[in-house]
Amino acid sequence: FVSLERDDPEIAHVLLDEMERRRGGLQLIASENFTSSAVLAALGSTLNDKYAEGYPGNRYYGGCAQVDRAEELAVERARGLFGAEHANVQPHSGASANLAAFAALAEPGDTVLAMELSHGGHLTHGSRVNFSGKWFHPIGYRVNPDSEEIDYDEVRDLALAHRPKLIICGATAYPRLIDFAVFREIADEVGAYLLVDAAHFIGLVAGHAVPSPVPYADVVTCTTHKALRGPRGGMILCRAELAQRVDKAVFPFSQGGPMMHAIAAKAVAFREASGPAFQAYARQVVGNARALAAALADDGIRPVAGGTDTHLVLADLRELGVTGKAAEARCELGRITLNKNAIPFDPQRPAVASGIRVGTPCVTTQGMREAEMRRVAGLIGAAVRSDPDTVAGASRLADVADEVLELVRRFPAYARQEV
Ligand code: PLP
Repeated sequence: FVSLERDDPEIAHVLLDEMERRRGGLQLIASENFTSSAVLAALGSTLNDKYAEGYPGNRYYGGCAQVDRAEELAVERARGLFGAEHANVQPHSGASANLAAFAALAEPGDTVLAMELSHGGHLTHGSRVNFSGKWFHPIGYRVNPDSEEIDYDEVRDLALAHRPKLIICGATAYPRLIDFAVFREIADEVGAYLLVDAAHFIGLVAGHAVPSPVPYADVVTCTTHKALRGPRGGMILCRAELAQRVDKAVFPFSQGGPMMHAIAAKAVAFREASGPAFQAYARQVVGNARALAAALADDGIRPVAGGTDTHLVLADLRELGVTGKAAEARCELGRITLNKNAIPFDPQRPAVASGIRVGTPCVTTQGMREAEMRRVAGLIGAAVRSDPDTVAGASRLADVADEVLELVRRFPAYARQEV
């Protein structure tokens, strides 16, 4: 960092300001975390400079002996951690992993059955503005309007009616567990492949806090930077018989040279995630999310689907008469970072939305527990109800910001790691 400060003070100050922002507030974005200094060291290493198109032992460039070791370690650790027959650690991101998975399992024009974006699915599961919706024929399933959990009967009916080549489960804003066995049964009934996009919850799988999709899915895609607490990146796990198709779909079909620094950092994160300390962390992430959901409910803020089994809470703000967009902005003024989110059957446009999504991976890495979650819920409730355009609201938001600062100072980010 000293050389960055000397050679490019402008960027150095961006980094310092961002560190200050992250340390100076509550980070409740469900897809973020604080990585360890070991992960950051691998990311900021000279492995960044190495070209290594291909796979270990079979590269299109010379001088790959060292980076081969990094990739072999990452693959071995991933296979061990998740009990997978094959792992591809090269995808640059979760979206890249999904592009490769589509390429491995389907042809353009094929029908794909996946959760609708507005009910918690992801852009890469069939949105019209994404490759998945432009090049494939998406059919969307939704949650049940009463339980707000996946409507498995509708999934089966749609599968039987449309005979998809690929069925996808795994979401970006779904707080409950997904029944992978039922999805497997439905996929088998119609001869479809089952892709589980575990981007959000793979860290909880690594920590044995939620069931693993690996025994059920043909292919599992994921990110490595959310609850898993690794570098930004993606990964694909699959059975041995699909290994070649998956590898070719990543390189050369959809990517060029792998990011060897990120792959080394993935290896570090997999090692960190393989011990009992990470399992305790993952359990606490879920315990904290449950405590947060219960405390929000006590405060009159309704958790969608009645609560959570994972790392995130989706909260419905309609009773409060506050939109997700306004709530996000108000929380920001109170030093609380979270995001607006559509709720199932949302009457608002996605850019406005009726809900907020709140996640516990960051605050749990900081060492917070259930007692702090009750406090956090109270601060969110106060911020969401405070209109910054009124004197009383602005003053309450300033109080919230002070209380948040006092809380996060007791649990400093990047200073205390659980592993
Ligand atoms: N899949 C799901 C379910 C996600 O939630 C996300 C990101 O939030 C992705 C894929 C895409 O990951 P990335 O942002 O790394 O491309």
